[in-house]
Amino acid sequence: MADDNGHLTILGGGAAGLATGHYAAIRGRPFTIFEKSGHTGGMCATIRHGDFSFDCGAHRFHDRVPEVTDEVKTLLGDRLRRIRVPSHIYHNGALVNFPFTPFNMTKRIGALTAARAAMEALTARSLPGAAADFETFASATYGKTLARMFLLNYSEKLWGADCSRLSAELAGDRLKGMTPKALIQELLNGHRNGSAHLDGSFYYPEGGIGAITQALAAACGADNIKTGAAVTGIEHDTRAVTSITINGRERHAAHKLVSSLPCTVMVRLMNPAPPDRVLQSAARLRFRNIILVALFLNTERATNSATIYFPSEQFSFTRVYEPKNRCVSMSPPGQTSLVAEIPCHESGGAWDMPDNQIADMVEGQLADCGIIRDAGVFDTAVVRVPHAYPVIEQDSKEHTAAVLDYLNGFANLKMIGRAGTFRYLWLHDMIAAGRKAAQL
Ligand SMILES: Cc1cc2nc3c(=O)[nH]c(=O)nc-3n(C[C@H](O)[C@H](O)[C@H](O)COP(=O)(O)OP(=O)(O)OC[C@H]3O[C@@H](n4cnc5c(N)ncnc54)[C@H](O)[C@@H]3O)c2cc1C
Repeated sequence: MADDNGHLTILGGGAAGLATGHYAAIRGRPFTIFEKSGHTGGMCATIRHGDFSFDCGAHRFHDRVPEVTDEVKTLLGDRLRRIRVPSHIYHNGALVNFPFTPFNMTKRIGALTAARAAMEALTARSLPGAAADFETFASATYGKTLARMFLLNYSEKLWGADCSRLSAELAGDRLKGMTPKALIQELLNGHRNGSAHLDGSFYYPEGGIGAITQALAAACGADNIKTGAAVTGIEHDTRAVTSITINGRERHAAHKLVSSLPCTVMVRLMNPAPPDRVLQSAARLRFRNIILVALFLNTERATNSATIYFPSEQFSFTRVYEPKNRCVSMSPPGQTSLVAEIPCHESGGAWDMPDNQIADMVEGQLADCGIIRDAGVFDTAVVRVPHAYPVIEQDSKEHTAAVLDYLNGFANLKMIGRAGTFRYLWLHDMIAAGRKAAQL
């Protein structure tokens, strides 16, 4: 393929790649997106199953970067809605309101424990995130009672690593707004003084989170997106990438590249291969996968939650959400769905289990805790999401730097994206990164 000067080759058609294409189109810059799977959207897609839709994980659009929110509003118009749906934590057989509310919290965990948690949170001192491991950071910031009850067990389940090994960076935006002061305000005043993050309101598009990536894809133009196009080789002359190989047979010359492929995959694709120290660092970076288990039910609603969190090890999943509670068109009238997220590593455990066994396990556990009652589960779907969460451990920084310094060291290559940069980033970060990358 003759490569025009200024042509941008974009690897990966998830949110980061699509946002790069969208902003390249605005600048009138030619580009091509290469996406391995048969569809765009990556982790930020909405999956269709018969008359039902569910997101690839419980997503919400965070209003954190004003220019990005404005862009999404322009793309979606009135299809981007502000919704208010509470979330809950399943704790010892009961649902605790999340964000916490004084009466409910006291009732669910007992007056003494609630008072101790409030006292600890009041006297907690925040540690700078970078200065501590996740366990030290969470206990110091929120108090030991709240940290142990709701944060540490949940985080270990999600990332599959001991919190003393995990980096405090993982708290990042996930706990933004959940400051001790805000928690105490919530405990004392209910939602009256709560932040938007804590009062359960968020932006969510009509038709699912995938409406955002679909709008980005539409803005890119179908001719500029190649699906079913797996990058299988990246050729270089040690200073710059010269070409990419698609599906093991087509070679495309490359002028400038932006890649959102997992950085650990990128180093394996480089030809000639990277130095050993880079490969060794890449081998030290681990991702956590997610299995989504959707259960389709013959009932109008199963819960009144946006998300229910399950910190206890007793359950294989970390959280369950009901898509219809975010957008009514996600399920037909008289029916609904529940989607459980099971975090796991790539080999062993749930990842290798047959779909029907995983679905039975989730259905049984949801019946045990009373979330599925008489409603019959008439169908199920299981979706595997690799590279869902970068497991950021205390020593990840040096290995990430070794890998990214090598890749970004090529004069015409820029790594972006969540797995691409091995950072715990969000959809709005992807759109902001795409805007910058389109200017390279
Ligand atoms: C369970 C879950 C819940 C989340 N909830 C939220 C939320 O509430 N709010 C929020 O803002 N963010 C949320 N996120 C984060 C958000 O989904 C990600 O930040 C975003 O989707 C990452 O986009 P990306 O383009 O970097 O990666 P991806 O979406 O993974 O895109 C990478 C693309 O590259 C493709 N690819 C891989 N290998 C190749 C290859 N060899 N050749 C060609 N293509 C290839 C993949 O198929 C994929 O489409 C959540 C993520 C998960 C997993």
